Order: sequence, then C-alpha cells, then structure tokens
Amino acid sequence: MLNFEEDIKPAGMPLDMMRISSFDEALIMEKLAAQTEIEECAEPVVQAKPVGRIRVEDKRIINCNADVNQLVPFKYKWAWEKYLSACANHWMPQEVNMTADIALWKSDKLSEDERLLVKRNLGFFTTADSLAANNIVLGTYRHISNPECRQYLLRQAFEEAIHTHAYQYIVESLGLDEGEIFNMYHEVPSIRAKDEFLLPFIDTLTNPAFKTGTPEADRQLLRSLIVFACIMEGLFFYVGFVQILALGRQNKMTGAAEQYQYILRDESMHLNFGVDVINQIKMENPHLWTTEFREEVRGLIQKGVELEYAYAEDTMPRGVLGLNSTMFKEYLRFIANRRCQQIGVDVLYQGANNPFPWMAEMIDLKKEKNFFETRVTEYQTGGALSWD
Ligand code: FE
Repeated sequence: MLNFEEDIKPAGMPLDMMRISSFDEALIMEKLAAQTEIEECAEPVVQAKPVGRIRVEDKRIINCNADVNQLVPFKYKWAWEKYLSACANHWMPQEVNMTADIALWKSDKLSEDERLLVKRNLGFFTTADSLAANNIVLGTYRHISNPECRQYLLRQAFEEAIHTHAYQYIVESLGLDEGEIFNMYHEVPSIRAKDEFLLPFIDTLTNPAFKTGTPEADRQLLRSLIVFACIMEGLFFYVGFVQILALGRQNKMTGAAEQYQYILRDESMHLNFGVDVINQIKMENPHLWTTEFREEVRGLIQKGVELEYAYAEDTMPRGVLGLNSTMFKEYLRFIANRRCQQIGVDVLYQGANNPFPWMAEMIDLKKEKNFFETRVTEYQTGGALSWD
C-alpha cells in the first residue's frame, strides 16, 4: 500500500511542514533553510538526556546534560550564596537624595576639569552597563548550563538595569545633555576605544550561532568571560568608581558618590562571581587552561590597562581632586595584578602598590555608614502593601 506521506516527502522534511507547504516549492525551500538555521543555532531550553532525578555530581558549569531547571540539590553553593547576598543588598537609585549635587552643579564651585571628569565618567558608564546587561541576558546566560549560576545571573542582570537607571537618574538630576552623554561611547575616542576592545568578546557570546562543546568554542567562552569579569567589570569600572568616590570624599557630588558606592558594592560581587565561574570552568576543563592561553589572557589584561590609562589621561588631562594619571597608572597596575592572581595567571607588574587604599573601605558599606540612614522617608517598596 502506498504510504502517501513517506513517498512524496523530500528527504529530511518533517511531516508537519509538508502539510503546510506541499504546494509551494519556494516556500518549502525557505522553511527548510529556516529550520536548518534554527537547528544549528538554538540551544535547547531543557537539555536532552537524563532520565531520573538530578544528582549533584551530574552538574557542571558548562556543557551540562543535567536538567537545568532543578536548582537543588546544590552543587555550587557559592553561586546561591552570592544570589542571596545580592538580594539583601537591593537598592534603587531614586532612594538617593540628589539635592546637594544639583545645587553644586548649578553653582560656580566646580572647576571645568571636575565637570569634564563627571561628564566623561558618565559617558562611559551610561552605556557600559547596558552592554553588560546584554552580554548576560543574550550571551552568558545561554552558555552557563548550571541553575545555581543562572539564578545569580538573573539577579546580576537586574542589577545592571539598576545601574543604568542610576546613571540616567544622575544625568537627569543634573540636567546634562542626554544626547551628548549617551553618545560619548561613539564620539569620545578614549571611551570608544574601550568599547571597541570589549565588543568582539561580547559579540562572540551573543551570536546566536555560537555554541560551546568543543575545546575551541569553550576557550572562546572562557576568554569572553575573563574579558567581561576581569577587564570590563574588574578594571574599566574601578577607575570610574575611584573618580566619583574621590569627589564624594571631598564633599562634592555626594549623591552621585553614594549611588556609585552601591554600584561598586554590586560590581565587586559581579567580579567575584565571574572569577568563581572562571576558576570552576578551569577546574572542570583543565585541558582549556594551556600555557599559550594563559599568556594570551595576560596580553588581554595588559591591553586593558593601556586602554584604561589612555581614558584616565583623557578624563583628567591636568590632574584633578589630588588625583592624576600617574597615580591611576599605578592603581591600574595594582588592580591588574590582583585580577591575574584571582584567575591564576602570572602577575604583570611586579611591585605595584595601591595609591587609593580607601577604596577597600568603600566596598564594605557597613564600615562607612548605615545604608538606611540616607533612605528618603517616602520610600515605597516595602510599604506598598497593607494587610489591614
Ligand atoms: Fe556588572
């Protein structure tokens, strides 16, 4: 007996597609092409395999075949603990009072150099955290096949949104030219150079056709994670934080400085999470961590230091606030060494010291002040529900 569906179906074509398009050859070809593309690109939401319950030992950070929807049993408790700490640190930009900043910005008490520093600083950060959010949501999240880490990444993505909100809130409060600030990453060469360095690594992860599973692809992922955590969040961000926090220490732009303090606290955790993920991938996939690859990573960190130094010179051409680009060069070298140590590559700059020891205190807000002291009284998030 003639099997109608089997006999007329082009090889490899699913039956349901035949029913839709059997009279239109062009449409068939188009759909086949589209389907092939989807098969090549898409990562399955629930990964194929195992039957039965999840065992801790089945979990892996990348290329995991275990069910990604089962958060517990925990294997990577450090990721879950970071998620809990991040939630405990929740804050919103509009809780910070910007009145003093607005008055100061309107006054003649800020020098032109200080104004340039604030604007170029915001010029980098206003778009940087959007890049960070896209990198997580459209890239990293897909390739990290572990639910504890994904739980933290979901929180991290929201924090990047809060940071973008904070920079927008500062720009709006001060009445800055939004077009000028938000376009600086296209128009100011020292900012553009940093983003041009970062973008290929972000593009790798956000490319829908990129998949892990081969040593080459896994190394590409690891390289992008290192650039994102250790160079973008761990180096480029820190110089910007120092600048605004130094203003705050001189009682200038105190609202902006307070926002940056909360951002620094969040970003320190993003960095530490990134470092933990990188080290865990190394441990689970030691074949990726070759001498050649480690040298390449050192070269990338060194390039990051050079780009950031050019940016420091551009934001502080004459030195400002007792800061100058020579101090930043030393700080960058100190920070770069720290990043090398954290991921286990040889330090780049022997004997570099930290010229800003006060930065360590800034990361731990409890030592500086009680977060709730400065919350506005109209704070709504906790009081929006009434049970009476
Ligand atoms: Fe971040």
